[in-house]
Amino acid sequence: MRQIMLEELEALAEQARPGLQKVAENIGRTVKLYLHWSAGHYEQYFDDYHINVGQNGELFVSTDDFNEYKLHTYHRNSGAVSIVAACAYNACSVDDLGPEPPTDQQIEALAQVIAVLAKTLDIPIDGKSVMTHAEAADNLDGDTRWHEPYGPNTTTERWDFWVVKAGDEPGSGGNILRGKGLWYYYNGL
Ligand SMILES: [Zn+2]
Repeated sequence: MRQIMLEELEALAEQARPGLQKVAENIGRTVKLYLHWSAGHYEQYFDDYHINVGQNGELFVSTDDFNEYKLHTYHRNSGAVSIVAACAYNACSVDDLGPEPPTDQQIEALAQVIAVLAKTLDIPIDGKSVMTHAEAADNLDGDTRWHEPYGPNTTTERWDFWVVKAGDEPGSGGNILRGKGLWYYYNGL
């Protein structure tokens, strides 16, 4: 796990773009960003994601090649970049995200990562291309070809960022993260 700044993130995304686009195209998809929480501790980082966001907004990469295949989002791993916030240990409901909920710094850093990757990889910041794991799990992009739904509207096996803060309206997490991402996209970092 190596700590990087946003400038380097942009460079890594630039290098990976042709490969990601080709892989996605070959299976009839577009390049996607998937947003996760780890359901682990603040200081725990995981190799299953390309980018880990720490408690204070620090960024870590598990690889320098975002084309590297990672197991992050069931049947949606190809042609995708995964970002995880290290948090949400023992999160049990939208009203209780546990003792280590997403921090403000983490949420802002996640939004900045969305902005940089969307710009560099030429991805629109919308609900089809930049998805939380909760949304992807329930196929909320309308693409039902890959797996049965297993998100908060069905089995709730995965519900990463269904909310950003405890007590938020269920399902609001994706729009909040994308909204913040759009702000950085248009206003700069
Ligand atoms: Zn996840």
